[in-house]
Amino acid sequence: MTTSPVTGTALSAADRYGTTEAQRDLAARTRAIAEEHFAPRSLEWEETGAFPEPNLRLLADAGILGTAVPVEYGGSGGSWLDSAVVLEEIGRTCYVTAMATLGELGVQSRAIAAFGSDELKADLLPRIARGEVVCSICITEADSGSDVGSIVTRAVPVDGGYRITGGKALISRLDVVDIMLVCTRFGTGEGRGVSDVGFIVVERDRPGVEVSDGHQTLGGERLFALTLTDVFVPERNVLVGAGGFKKMINAFNGQRCMNASISIGIAQGALDAAKARATERRQFGKPIADFQGLRWMLADCAIEIEAARALVHRAAWNGGKQFPNRYDAAVAKVFANEMSLRVTDRVLQIFGGHGFLRDLPAERYLRWARYGGLGGGTPQLLRDGIATELYRERPATS
Ligand SMILES: Cc1cc2nc3c(=O)[nH]c(=O)nc-3n(C[C@H](O)[C@H](O)[C@H](O)COP(=O)(O)OP(=O)(O)OC[C@H]3O[C@@H](n4cnc5c(N)ncnc54)[C@H](O)[C@@H]3O)c2cc1C
Repeated sequence: MTTSPVTGTALSAADRYGTTEAQRDLAARTRAIAEEHFAPRSLEWEETGAFPEPNLRLLADAGILGTAVPVEYGGSGGSWLDSAVVLEEIGRTCYVTAMATLGELGVQSRAIAAFGSDELKADLLPRIARGEVVCSICITEADSGSDVGSIVTRAVPVDGGYRITGGKALISRLDVVDIMLVCTRFGTGEGRGVSDVGFIVVERDRPGVEVSDGHQTLGGERLFALTLTDVFVPERNVLVGAGGFKKMINAFNGQRCMNASISIGIAQGALDAAKARATERRQFGKPIADFQGLRWMLADCAIEIEAARALVHRAAWNGGKQFPNRYDAAVAKVFANEMSLRVTDRVLQIFGGHGFLRDLPAERYLRWARYGGLGGGTPQLLRDGIATELYRERPATS
């Protein structure tokens, strides 16, 4: 039985495809903050490339940033579904802020809580909940993207810990990062596939850590490269050692639901903007919302958003405070990512030529939606995983 950490009440089967009152309250509190503080500055964060630190502070002060942190470490001990409703609301108003909080509300916090040493948990989790540390996850390398088994970053054992050498590419938030969950090979073996791959926590201020200048991106968030040259890290920093990548895959199933929740938020924000625009804009003597062609476009947006939300909530609900399963998470992510592109494209059409202007929000949503299918497992890779699961015996999830 899964319980909501917000109220401590059990989530019954009746709540299965819906949210509890506590989760709706959590969403409403997040929406209030996001509409008042995030929406007005969303374009500014994109254009300046600055990290939206004040937004993280607001969420931390409201006790929302610690949703994924267990209660004993100062968070609210939320489920994946709690994080999903929060990220949807943030994604609805400000993509840069959603990306800036994705790790705290998702895989970084939950992986540390699930796999970290007691020392690591006690040191990091309370500070994550308070918004005092920014924590990136560093997997992608210049020559290793979807194929994680081809990474070359390596941690070699030395007295008291490891020395790490390697490099990472396309990493979020390294301009402000305090700690990094670095995906690395362990030891000096031949290193085939993911058999010797795990994760280790590297503090930004360790000698040998270098961060490149940021690259500007379509969605506004900046991405960075990381170089690690003979960086010493103590044993206690190992999150999952050689072979631990398989454990982490479970955590990534949750992260896929979080990425999908942002896609849903973006689509919902776009639909809300289109509804308003279609009643204000008049052509042929009446609001364009009166034309059936557009009404059906709005209806199609709503249908697809509802379907994506049901899939993501199912996957997150099944994960509870543990981890969603691979099939549910992949199905939800592929559908939500692709849905958000269809919805935001329709919305831009509803705005007409004005929708192409940066001053109005339509083009923004379309750009934001493009990220979903690039990070956290591409639709191509996930479809392969879904097909594999189709041939495997698995417990019914619906
Ligand atoms: C905004 C943004 C933020 C990011 N933040 C981070 C971060 O914080 N940390 C991090 O580690 N990474 C991050 N990334 C990187 C992201 O995780 C990678 O881009 C992703 O894993 C894909 O890898 P790649 O770009 O090297 O593409 P590749 O793996 O080279 O893929 C290129 C194309 O080939 C397709 N392809 C690859 N393999 C297969 C296959 N077996 N079958 C069919 N098609 C296939 C892919 O779907 C894709 O279309 C971020 C990326 C973006 C865009």
